[in-house]
Amino acid sequence: MRRLFLLLSLASCPVFAAETPLAALPYTPGLDVSAMDRSADPCVDFYRYACGGWIRNNPIPPDESRWSVYGKLARENQQFLWGILDELAKRSAGRSAAQQKIGDYFASCMDETAVEKSGGRPLKPQLDRIFRMKSKRDLPAVLAALHLETGAGGLFFRFASNQDLADSTSVIAFAESGGLGLPDRDFYTKDDDKSKELRTRYAAHVARMFELLGDPPGAAGREAAKVMEIETRLARASLTRTERRDPYRLFHKMDAKGLKALTPGFDWDVYLGAAGLSRLNVFNVTEPEFFKELDRQWQSLSLADIKTYLRWHAAHASAPLLSSAFVNEDFDFFGRALYGIPELKPRWKRCVALVDAQLGEALGEEFVNRAFSPALKQKTLHMTKQIEEAMRDEIVNLEWMSAATKQKALEKLHAIVNKIGYPDKWRDYGPVEVKRNDFVGNVARANAFESRRRLAKIGKPLDRGEWSMTPPTVNAYYDPQMNDINFAAGVLQPPLYDPKMDDAPNYGNTGGTIGHELTHGFDDEGRHFDAQGNLKDWWTEKDAREFNERAQCIVDQYAQYTIVDDIKINSRLTEGEDIADLGGLVLAWLAWKAETAGTKPESREGFTPEQRFFVGYAQWACEHHRPEDLRARALTDAHSPGKYRVNGLVVNMPEFERAFSCKAAQPMVRENRCRVW
Ligand SMILES: [Zn+2]
Repeated sequence: MRRLFLLLSLASCPVFAAETPLAALPYTPGLDVSAMDRSADPCVDFYRYACGGWIRNNPIPPDESRWSVYGKLARENQQFLWGILDELAKRSAGRSAAQQKIGDYFASCMDETAVEKSGGRPLKPQLDRIFRMKSKRDLPAVLAALHLETGAGGLFFRFASNQDLADSTSVIAFAESGGLGLPDRDFYTKDDDKSKELRTRYAAHVARMFELLGDPPGAAGREAAKVMEIETRLARASLTRTERRDPYRLFHKMDAKGLKALTPGFDWDVYLGAAGLSRLNVFNVTEPEFFKELDRQWQSLSLADIKTYLRWHAAHASAPLLSSAFVNEDFDFFGRALYGIPELKPRWKRCVALVDAQLGEALGEEFVNRAFSPALKQKTLHMTKQIEEAMRDEIVNLEWMSAATKQKALEKLHAIVNKIGYPDKWRDYGPVEVKRNDFVGNVARANAFESRRRLAKIGKPLDRGEWSMTPPTVNAYYDPQMNDINFAAGVLQPPLYDPKMDDAPNYGNTGGTIGHELTHGFDDEGRHFDAQGNLKDWWTEKDAREFNERAQCIVDQYAQYTIVDDIKINSRLTEGEDIADLGGLVLAWLAWKAETAGTKPESREGFTPEQRFFVGYAQWACEHHRPEDLRARALTDAHSPGKYRVNGLVVNMPEFERAFSCKAAQPMVRENRCRVW
């Protein structure tokens, strides 16, 4: 009996180990046999074969909407950063200026008692500013201040700087759609029952936030209905995510006169002046129809309604920074209802994430100094060059592309800049004053610094060294206007890149990621940009047609896959990622074969090198989700779920069929294979 009791109590033990600050990053091998499910047939469901054990052994933590190999590594990086910040927060002597900032910022964020005591008071200056508006003519100045302080795009529209799509060397002002509280315009327009229910819960949340601001319940309900009405109008006037994948649809360059003509009811001179910008005369209005609707709204809404809308968004932007009443209410909708997350993240995690978001390069420098060696940088750079070499061969040998387009494609490939690990020059946060006892003030000052830093780029020479991801991030990206690929130090670690492993899984995993980012330069979106990063058609008509036919094969394939319930992948939205996944793995395979030419890689742990390549690939994508998360992502995520990012690729690769000796009629073998690159 005693024994049985012991077993039972063991089984009911929480499977989630207590999280502590880490002094070193834990090691997980790049190919993990225990993460596999050997009872599955690789030719029937390769994803289950490669990831079944991982999914079984790694239940979704209570504070997450999904769990994945990437997510787990990101969590470990966070625990490591926690250790760094904890130490810097305790120390007061011998810190550099940057260390003082991140240490004291973290300390101010972790001081929950102070945060609790201040309740919703930190919001008061913003709310007062809104309250003092005497007429709609006051809107531009108030909006400019709120945009700078919140750094958010939730207030009517976004105003930003970006490279001119026609001339990537020049940075101009961008006026973009925004103004929504829900994560995408489709949340406002879909009319299935689940979407309707979610909107009802959202409106109830908005009402409760007004109550937290002190409004009586009846008024709060009416205010929430008004917010819903305004946001729904803005949502309907916004392009869909899929439409926004076409860069030509987002390019409407105009002068100040043109901008003013779109929104005659809004004084841009006042807005720009208050934002610290003057004499601007070049704008890209990404969605002119949206701004026309915005103007109609501003004309027709009463001053009181505009104030209501602004109060909601000011409170929404700051809610996670305020006392627990606000934090919990915010989490109840944006965590629990929207993504199905049972528990709020512990404070340390939210604070580490905030330092990363606001002072990310100061923290990133600490991370890189401890966790990313020059040797690792050299190794991954070598792999990147090999993948690029494989792409060169592919383009040269491509059957469907004319010599003229090939030459342009090669030009573009050669111009791609490889950025590995971290920026050459760290951002200077000098102007951000960080006080140990002023958390919300620190956040506002860091937001204002970042907003001003971005706007200050307008009209200045382009900084090609800049990164749009911090070094500890477990991710990578391709930027079509910079024409560069960027791999954060956080993504070049075990189990994704494992210097202790043989080449096969490393090429499958990190090689596949490098190939993926490279292929983005040539996917349905990236292909519209040339070697200099300009939006310019360098394709012959016939080559473009040939490309589209091959891309359509992938669009049709992924449209068949179910995400959750009766929701299928919107494969027009995921097209670029799906093309990049397949192209990436093909390139990784070729680069691996080139690297190991003339050698005879050995079988290990019962797998041939070819099998290890594919299992290594699949094991980056092991993941599982809560159903709410899947539903939300079906509308917002341009990536297909992990299962299809694995099974959807291997069915297109004859190399896989051979590696696992699959038979023609088996599910992981496709008769009409897709192939773009
Ligand atoms: Zn991608």
